[in-house]
Amino acid sequence: MKDIKSYSLAELEKEFSQELGLPKYRAKQVFKWLTLGVSSFDEMTDISKELRNNLSKHYYISVAIIEKKLVSVYDNTVKYLFRFNDGEFVESVVMSYHHGYTICISTQVGCKMGCTFCATGKSGFSRNLTASEMLAQIQTAQKDLSVRISNIVLMGMGEPLDNYDNVVRFLRLVSADEGLNIGTRHISLSTCGLVDRIYDLEKENFGITLSVSLHAPNNEIRSRTMPVNRRYPIEELLKACRHYANATGRRISFEYAMISGVNDSDECAGELARKLRGMLCHVNLIPVNSVEGTGYIKSKIERQKAFIKILGKAGITATVRRTLGSDINASCGQLRRKTINSEILVES
Ligand code: SAH
Ligand code: SF4
Repeated sequence: MKDIKSYSLAELEKEFSQELGLPKYRAKQVFKWLTLGVSSFDEMTDISKELRNNLSKHYYISVAIIEKKLVSVYDNTVKYLFRFNDGEFVESVVMSYHHGYTICISTQVGCKMGCTFCATGKSGFSRNLTASEMLAQIQTAQKDLSVRISNIVLMGMGEPLDNYDNVVRFLRLVSADEGLNIGTRHISLSTCGLVDRIYDLEKENFGITLSVSLHAPNNEIRSRTMPVNRRYPIEELLKACRHYANATGRRISFEYAMISGVNDSDECAGELARKLRGMLCHVNLIPVNSVEGTGYIKSKIERQKAFIKILGKAGITATVRRTLGSDINASCGQLRRKTINSEILVES
């Protein structure tokens, strides 16, 4: 069975004509229904029953079914646990800002990168998501909430650049005029730093914002918390970031989870400031989210302030990321791993 929602309109037209001998307008009709988020061929009411039956013999439609939904009592941030056709689960979060709705989607079931502070990393890796499964997360959330989502962050479970081809396919599909039509300027991708892939992404010329999970100012600390740093040391990573910023004119957003006693000293801030000096960038400080079994504790507010001051002196803007939905904010993977604190979140 082929994954029909991962085809672009042009690919579907070609495939329908070559494999099924169908005219172009049939592909257009089917593509329109897929974009609307139907879950079965039977919902395609302007297509004959015979053709619907035939399609369902060759193709399947990827869906993201709501297994669990949690709504923050504070700010209506919604966290979903979605189930795919094969029974695997991922999480997505929808946040509402004054400029519209942003969805944080997953790109893999689990992750291979093994960052020591991350709930997803602790759960191991199961499989890559297809482009259609990334689309399905957005479609189900839009339908469920009856809103149009205008911004996407690839910051849920998984390492997007470790699933490069499917992610690039997704970026093309989601931004296509005839598709969900969410412009790449409204999309951010977060990576732990797969340097070769950052250069590849730059060449695609999407104009998406690159977020880089830095979380440490040097190789010694970074290799301890992020094993990927042993393969791509921080110097190489920052070189690729400078290159991306210069080539695209887009500010790099560095994520820095502040862990008490690990990466939050004045020396760390100073070293970070020296390494980022002159780069078109912004630093997002995130008090680390405590994940069971890691023993990490979030930095005190004084440490956060000291960081902002030291970076600011070097001309680097830094902010503490606004926390939405409290417990459900930064670290995806926790819902799949354990049930969330029911005092903070209500299930609906
Ligand atoms: N794999 C990608 C994207 C998914 S992780 C990446 O690592 O960038 C999304 C973000 O959450 C990353 O910045 C990641 O470092 C951060 N994160 C993971 N666990 C966290 C935790 N316990 N506290 C704070 N941020 C965390
Ligand atoms: Fe994977 Fe990102 Fe978690 Fe690291 S922080 S384990 S790269 S999801």
